[in-house]
Amino acid sequence: MNTRPAANDIVVVGAGIVGACCALALRKRGFPVHVIDRSEPGEGASFGNAGVISPWSFVPLALPGIWKQVPGWLANPRGPLKVDWRDVAEFAPWARRFLREASEARYPKNADAMARLIAPCIETYREYLRGSDADRLLVDSMLVSLISGPAPSMDAPAWRLRTERGAALAVLNRDQLHEIEPAVGPAYSGAVLVKGQARTLSPGRLCKALAELAVRRGARFTRAVVRGVRLDANGLPQVVLPHETVTADRLVLAAGAWSVKLLESLESLESLKSLNLRLPMVGERGYHLVFTRPGVSLNNSVLDPRLHFIVSSMQDGIRAAGTAEFARLDRPPDFRRAQVLASLTQGMLPDLNVDETSQWMGTRASFPDSVPVIGPIPGLERIVAAFGHSHWGMSMAPGTGLMVAAMIGGDTPFTDPAAYRPDRFESSSVSGFHGRAG
Ligand SMILES: Cc1cc2nc3c(=O)[nH]c(=O)nc-3n(C[C@H](O)[C@H](O)[C@H](O)COP(=O)(O)OP(=O)(O)OC[C@H]3O[C@@H](n4cnc5c(N)ncnc54)[C@H](O)[C@@H]3O)c2cc1C
Repeated sequence: MNTRPAANDIVVVGAGIVGACCALALRKRGFPVHVIDRSEPGEGASFGNAGVISPWSFVPLALPGIWKQVPGWLANPRGPLKVDWRDVAEFAPWARRFLREASEARYPKNADAMARLIAPCIETYREYLRGSDADRLLVDSMLVSLISGPAPSMDAPAWRLRTERGAALAVLNRDQLHEIEPAVGPAYSGAVLVKGQARTLSPGRLCKALAELAVRRGARFTRAVVRGVRLDANGLPQVVLPHETVTADRLVLAAGAWSVKLLESLESLESLKSLNLRLPMVGERGYHLVFTRPGVSLNNSVLDPRLHFIVSSMQDGIRAAGTAEFARLDRPPDFRRAQVLASLTQGMLPDLNVDETSQWMGTRASFPDSVPVIGPIPGLERIVAAFGHSHWGMSMAPGTGLMVAAMIGGDTPFTDPAAYRPDRFESSSVSGFHGRAG
């Protein structure tokens, strides 16, 4: 095995949207960057998501009263939530913590942390893409949140959080909805619009384009499986690949749902355990179904908030994406979850042609508070966390990249990093790591 001499490279593990944004922000500051992924860029969760890029997507999943909805969701095979009961013991501590995060005392703080991180998303993508062919992959958009019963109360947390932070909202009746989205059927009596968003016409291609831009701007990309992470005798981080070991000045861990597993591979795990660091992250799977000859189109990101799925016209057709499925990382996909989206989407778009489809499953990396961890791991300062972006990683990735690059550069990040600290979850005497999902 070949061990490369210590370099001053910043090694980024993971070429999803978070790794790509970290690489671009680091190159902009002139750091030598080496990105490593077992796949081509943008093949993980960043491939198949709903493509919403929004500075207003800072509503955490854990909100007051959510527990009342859970039994109904679980009982309904067409519902938005599924737990693989074989893995329930693994997810129970996460679920308990999730319910705690839904308290009145905590959820607004979580929303604040997300809001600050997500704020620069559109302008940062536009800056990266300016002058490249890929800028057409990002278009202005609104979120059209459909109303299927009585109009929602704007006092409900999901709406209040947005209005209090300056979102421009409008409530539409059926005719106004029809003007904006003629393909939406009569099952809906109106919609709440969230203005000032963007969406991508292909999340995977956007991610690949950003990774390519990073390479064009001097980053190196290696396609290889990272088998483990360790520290050399001088405390420099090393990533172990099948045929070589790469030494880094800093290691940015942006491997999405696999990040905690890679940290657990550290040979110094025992000393890490003594730090009592808890990273309660789980893999939360989602599915999509793309209707490749849809026969109808949408102008915006359209959400059915009751059934929790988002539909959008993309380059390859109409994509419906959603579902939260809690299962270990190594469980095979349950594509019935994707197929459910066919009838749900037809309920939204009655003229949709569902004859040709493609299906996909991807895994979000989720902490109970919906906030990612960003920054040096305490006690392992050369390893920088950039993972756990839950349902909104396409939107939080640009801010994450800026923050990681500023921290590595020794500068003050654009917003206070305290809310994203890897050690923000209280220490526990039970175990060093928690919430292993695979
Ligand atoms: C159904 C669904 C809909 C969504 N909709 C939206 C949306 O509309 N808007 C939004 O903002 N977010 C959305 N999200 C969330 C978003 O997709 C994720 O938060 C985001 O893609 C996470 O990016 P990432 O770079 O952290 O992870 P990933 O894209 O998963 O990238 C991680 C990378 O690490 C690599 N890797 C892992 N382990 C190793 C290893 N051992 N060796 C080498 N490489 C490794 C993987 O190959 C992968 O490329 C959605 C997610 C889902 C599932």
